[in-house]
Amino acid sequence: MNTTVNQEIVVLGGGYTGVLATVRLARRTRRAKVRITLVNPSDRFVERLRMHQIAAGQQLANRRITELLDGTGARFHRAAATGIDPAARQVTLSDGATLHYDTLVYALGSATDTERVPGVADHAWTLNDPVRAHHFSERLTELAMAGGTVTVVGGGLTGVEAATEIAESHPDLPVTLVAAAEPGSMMGPGARAHLDRAFERLGIVRRIGVQVDKVLPQAIRLSTGELIASDLTLWTAGVRVPPLAADAGIATDATGSVITDATLRSVSHPDVYAIGDAASVVQPFGRLHGTCQSGMPTAAYVADAIARRLRGREVPPFRFGYVHQPVSLGRRDAVIQFTNADDTPKRWYLTGRVAVRYKDIVSGSPWPVFGMSTRMTVPVQFSRGGRRTRDRV
Ligand SMILES: Cc1cc2nc3c(=O)[nH]c(=O)nc-3n(C[C@H](O)[C@H](O)[C@H](O)COP(=O)(O)OP(=O)(O)OC[C@H]3O[C@@H](n4cnc5c(N)ncnc54)[C@H](O)[C@@H]3O)c2cc1C
Repeated sequence: MNTTVNQEIVVLGGGYTGVLATVRLARRTRRAKVRITLVNPSDRFVERLRMHQIAAGQQLANRRITELLDGTGARFHRAAATGIDPAARQVTLSDGATLHYDTLVYALGSATDTERVPGVADHAWTLNDPVRAHHFSERLTELAMAGGTVTVVGGGLTGVEAATEIAESHPDLPVTLVAAAEPGSMMGPGARAHLDRAFERLGIVRRIGVQVDKVLPQAIRLSTGELIASDLTLWTAGVRVPPLAADAGIATDATGSVITDATLRSVSHPDVYAIGDAASVVQPFGRLHGTCQSGMPTAAYVADAIARRLRGREVPPFRFGYVHQPVSLGRRDAVIQFTNADDTPKRWYLTGRVAVRYKDIVSGSPWPVFGMSTRMTVPVQFSRGGRRTRDRV
């Protein structure tokens, strides 16, 4: 047993990456003198990947982070981080507490940006919060009975998944998808054609290649001045990351994400690691974009890297390659575009029931993986270059 280490490790953010990093680190440092504290505003684990399902009226299991951490040795502090003092190595919290850290894991994720376009914060709904998403689903049901219109703004995967889920669960409700760029433009022609057929089948009206410049109480306004009537507007266009790192003087890129080195430490503050959506991670093919597919490997890698360094061992650089773009199209259809490591499409893709099954496996609840990670080192996700995250410490 190693009795020389005495380290305070604070993990900020209890989303997909923060929770995985915490349980994996607790497992990997179980014989070391380490105290791990996970900080999150809520004890409820939010399955962001499936928020569009809540918005369409489905129920998801209520998962408690404290139940998961029970018996792992890691502590849970329910609060929001309000500031970081890197010189003092302290985090201030919304409940007035301060936490000292020797190592900080920055896993604050991202949220839909409601500031960039006027009216979004006041008149549009987002998938940022499960309680609000549930209220949205109630409004949808009322609207379906009253005869209204729904608009989903944003042609990224979140917008596509939300629009198809809503259209499938409310077949009589007119759904319009408004986007600046063609949905699925990063997919190959076969997968894109399947996406188009799904939109047709579900009766989703598409307004593509347009910019929304204002959201009004019952309409959206395009940059051309045209108004599109919308009783209920769901905004999925653009994300932002919390400003804490930038406010603390930790080096960030233009989006506010923490710039990391080859082992995912802040380039300005090596005692700060960054993972998930709030980290700027660059691979030979470019910067990773915010997905669980890349986020979960960053979390597993950082847990392993911290454990290795505590034992005085070398840490190999983080390596990652994309495998797929899995997109649900309601509960009965999906499209999976297989990709090269740099996320460009391969020729192969799956559709229909096989794709639904595949999507369920890769984007289902991470809870079983978290649970297993409290007891063993779980290979997190198949991704080329991710094998290093499975090295034993
Ligand atoms: C509808 C939807 C569908 C998606 N589908 C997919 C998909 O199919 N595949 C895929 O790979 N990705 C998908 N994504 C993206 C995926 O959800 C994110 O990449 C992933 O959640 C990032 O994990 P994270 O841990 O970085 O952030 P999050 O999971 O967002 O967690 C961040 C955590 O930090 C907490 N936090 C925030 N501020 C503070 C603070 N000040 N103090 C303390 N805690 C704080 C939050 O409450 C949250 O718990 C989807 C996203 C959405 C919205």
